[in-house]
Amino acid sequence: MKTAESPTTISECSPPDQRISHQPSGTRALDFRQIRDKRSATWNAALNASVDVTKGDRPDLFVISIDDNWPANCSLAEHPNGTHAGWCSCEVFQATTVCPHLCVLRQHAALGELSLPIREQR
Ligand SMILES: [Zn+2]
Repeated sequence: MKTAESPTTISECSPPDQRISHQPSGTRALDFRQIRDKRSATWNAALNASVDVTKGDRPDLFVISIDDNWPANCSLAEHPNGTHAGWCSCEVFQATTVCPHLCVLRQHAALGELSLPIREQR
């Protein structure tokens, strides 16, 4: 006598879009296509780094450490038009408005390893 074994279906491969309306003050508009062209050193350094990404307590917040350096607090969200809004606590971001941490987040999101929330327009 056989029991009907219910197959384990993985139906939650794409989590529902999360939406946020607030990010830290000092958040900047980011166009990663331009960053890849104009700041390719930063972008490529992030690609090759060994990183540790921890999700924060809001969908846009992440704690990232690169090559065992002091971790940085980051906020990154995606606008409906495909550009991004980001903020990071590190000095590189404060000086140049983009940094390896934010590149790491974008790269991981592109690989499907984390999902970025949608930034609501007000
Ligand atoms: Zn940073």
